[in-house]
Amino acid sequence: MKLITKKMFLEYDYCPVRGWIERNEPREFRPTIAEDFRMKEGLDVGRRARSLFPEGILIEEMDPFEASFITERIIGDRESVTLFEPAFISGDFVSRADVVIKEGESLDVFEVKSSLAGSSNTKDYIRDLSYTVSVIESLGHRVNRACLIMVSRMYRKGDEDRKLFEIIDVTDEVSAQKSEIKAKLEPASVILTSTLIPSGSLGYKCRDCEHLRRCFGLERKLSIFELPRLGADKTDALIERGYFYLEELPREALGDKPLLQRVFRGAKEGRIVFDEPEELREKLNSFKYPIGYLDFETAASVIPLYDGLAPYEGIPYQYSLHIRREVSDVLEHREFLFDNPSRDESLLLAERLVEDLKDCRTLMAHHASVERNILRWLSNRYKDFPELSEQLISFSEMFVDSELLVKNHIYHPDFGGSFSIKRLLPALVKGVGYEGLFIHNGDDARYVFVNMALGNYRESEIEKIRRDMLEYCRMDTLAMVEIHGFLCDLSSE
Ligand code: SF4
Repeated sequence: MKLITKKMFLEYDYCPVRGWIERNEPREFRPTIAEDFRMKEGLDVGRRARSLFPEGILIEEMDPFEASFITERIIGDRESVTLFEPAFISGDFVSRADVVIKEGESLDVFEVKSSLAGSSNTKDYIRDLSYTVSVIESLGHRVNRACLIMVSRMYRKGDEDRKLFEIIDVTDEVSAQKSEIKAKLEPASVILTSTLIPSGSLGYKCRDCEHLRRCFGLERKLSIFELPRLGADKTDALIERGYFYLEELPREALGDKPLLQRVFRGAKEGRIVFDEPEELREKLNSFKYPIGYLDFETAASVIPLYDGLAPYEGIPYQYSLHIRREVSDVLEHREFLFDNPSRDESLLLAERLVEDLKDCRTLMAHHASVERNILRWLSNRYKDFPELSEQLISFSEMFVDSELLVKNHIYHPDFGGSFSIKRLLPALVKGVGYEGLFIHNGDDARYVFVNMALGNYRESEIEKIRRDMLEYCRMDTLAMVEIHGFLCDLSSE
């Protein structure tokens, strides 16, 4: 018998079709570099959390039926006991709690999460825990406390493992959801164990779902799902009125927001839309040369790589900088990548950066708030070097944002509702792209670096990986140069 796991139930909770597919059509999961790292990091956090309960017993058995048999036997035999990974099976449902403490007649249930305490995902984690508690209580156990174990911002590299965690009591929040979840278990079981796939209902929830075509024969491209920040209520209201593709929409259905109107017109006309050319020209003409096109890569991991960093505190380890001294001058390139990732070389990076930027009078970045904040972060980290710190702050005030230049004036149907540099570049500048690189996005780049810092690559692999990292970051700033050039050409037509 194939049991219904927490993941299947939570997918069902989101959409019954997704839950059914999760249970009945499991697919081989091929994680990206970033997903692979995060999975391993999650397992590591789970192991470290056990240090909070030194007397705990690990239920190592993987088979859920065997594991639940062992769990129930130990809980039945002992007056008090702490179990790691105990299994509970109620009807078709199985749950494996991270930690359960039995004290007398009641249980305390703990779920370990590798996110920072107070993170925005806490609502979802409470839902996870509510499922676990509901299954345990369905077996007749009394749950006294339900807690999340999350990562503490106060932890620093070298601290003992117990300092990595904060225990957050969410018993009340879980209690508020339990009866609703218990009421859902029976209908979920009927649907998920059926041989027939349920039918879905089209809505905002389908926005990023890979089953859109299968469920409804629809494509995301040029649909209302590409409208930036339309939100669930407005999207569902349009679907309710029978609209899906942008070309079907009456113009007034989107209100008067210029961005939404541009996306709408771009999709309807099937070509680039360009608004307020005069204003864009003025902005572009106001940029003072030399212009530096700057992009950082930052690393962050739950166990900080270097002294003084908090969990998940990002540290810049690489930058690429293209410089154009005059409108028609040749492009210069500077770059930096930690030479020895096992050491914190961010001071060296900051010093080199200040030297490389010294002639620039304008800095361009894509989604510039990120680069601005990194310069501020470096300035604060090296406040004991007043001259360096002040220079970093003054550079942080020189940014213009290539994303906003595009977003406020231009839309191309191939943007697909996104203004990320990887979407803009192939749509606006033909023949330039990121194809062929081992690293595909900033997330992968970050974890490649973390893996390198942790010594997870063979010596023979390092040179190629470094080359790819440099090439990936260089592409990001080259993309900005190309987009800036495109905007200049367009606005001067
Ligand atoms: S497309 Fe919508 S209905 Fe279909 S599986 Fe995805 S979320 Fe569910």
